[in-house]
Amino acid sequence: MAMQDMREPIETGCPDPFQYMHPTMRKNFGMWKYHEHPRPGVLLHVAYSGDKVWTVKAGTQRILDVYTLRKLCDIGDRLAEGYVHFTLRSNLEYMVTDEAKVQPLIDTLEESGFIVGGTQNSVSMISHTQGWLHCDIPGTDASGVVKSMMDELIDEFRNANMPNRVHITTSCCQINCGGQGDIAINVQHTKPPKINHDLVANVCERPSVVARCPVAAIRPAMVNGKPSLEVDEKKCICCGACYPPCPPMQINDAEHSKLAIWVGGNHSNARGKPTFQKLVAAGIPNNPPRWPEATAIIKRILKAYKEGARDWERINEWIERIGWPRFFDEVELPFTKYHIDNWRGARKSLNSSTHIRF
Ligand code: SF4
Ligand code: SF4
Repeated sequence: MAMQDMREPIETGCPDPFQYMHPTMRKNFGMWKYHEHPRPGVLLHVAYSGDKVWTVKAGTQRILDVYTLRKLCDIGDRLAEGYVHFTLRSNLEYMVTDEAKVQPLIDTLEESGFIVGGTQNSVSMISHTQGWLHCDIPGTDASGVVKSMMDELIDEFRNANMPNRVHITTSCCQINCGGQGDIAINVQHTKPPKINHDLVANVCERPSVVARCPVAAIRPAMVNGKPSLEVDEKKCICCGACYPPCPPMQINDAEHSKLAIWVGGNHSNARGKPTFQKLVAAGIPNNPPRWPEATAIIKRILKAYKEGARDWERINEWIERIGWPRFFDEVELPFTKYHIDNWRGARKSLNSSTHIRF
C-alpha cells in the first residue's frame, strides 16, 4: 500500500462495527424471529423479513500470525461472502445466506486444519489473556495452557454433548484480566514478592506501590542507605498487585507460582442471578509445555458434569443442586479448610485492607 493511501490512525476507540457487518445481518439488525442449531458449529438465524443467515464457527489459536489470518480471510472471500466475525472466545464466524455454501465451507476449514464447533452445548474455546505477548506481568503463558487443554477437549468442542454450554477461561496473573467462567484456571502466587533493593529507588514510585497493596503490607524502608520498600510477610496475601507498578518486587517464580481452578462463575442473569466462582483446586503445578496436572482436573470436572447434570443445567446450577460435598467427591478433589473463604469469612481480611472497611 502506498504511503498516501494509508488512513490516519483512529484514536477514539473502536470504529463503527456496522460497516463490517454482513449486509443481511445489517439489514435485519434487531429483527430476528428465531434461531436454530442445525449441527454443531453451525447456527441458523431467521429474520421476520424471511431472510436466513447460516453462521459457521471455527476455533482459532487467538494469537494469530499474519499467514493464518490471511488464510482465514481468503476462505471467507472464496466461500463465505467476504465477511468474518471474531467472537470473544477467539472463534471465527463466517456468515452465508445460502445453505448450499455451508458444507463446502466446513470442508475447507477442516482441510485447512481448523476445527468447526463451539456452538450450543459444547465446550467453547477457552478465553485467555494476553500473556507473554504484550503484558508485562504474566506468571504463566495463558495461550499455552489453552492450546494444551483444547488439544484434549477437541471432541467436546466439535460436538455439543454437554448438558449446557461450558465457558472456560484462563488468566496469566492473579489480579487483572483474570477469568470468570463456568471453570476458570488462574495463576496463584504462593510466596510474597522478592525485592531487588538496588533497583527500587530508580524504578518505582514508592507511594503508588504502597497504595497499591490491598492489605497494607508494604511500607517504605531504607535499605543499605537507599530508599526502598519492605513487605510484612505475615499480612501479604501474595496477590502480585505490587509487581506491575514495581517490577523489582518480583513475584513470579517457576516453583511457587501455581495454578488454581475455580468453578461456577456466571455473568449472565438470563435465567438466574449472576454467581461468583469458588476455588476448588489450588497449588497445581504451573507445568509447561503441556500443563498435564491442570488438564487432568479440568477433564474430571467436565466428565462429572456431563454424566451428572440434568439437561440445560449450567455447572453452577448442577453444583447447587447436588451440593459442594458431593461435587468434591465426584471430581476426586480434596475439600480443605482453605476452600471456605466466602464473603462472610473474608470480612477479617478485607477489614485489614487500606481500601475496604465493613
Ligand atoms: S491476566 Fe494479568 S498477566 Fe495476563 S494479560 Fe491480563 S494483566 Fe497481563
Ligand atoms: S500487593 Fe499483594 S503481593 Fe504485594 S505485598 Fe501487598 S499483598 Fe503482598
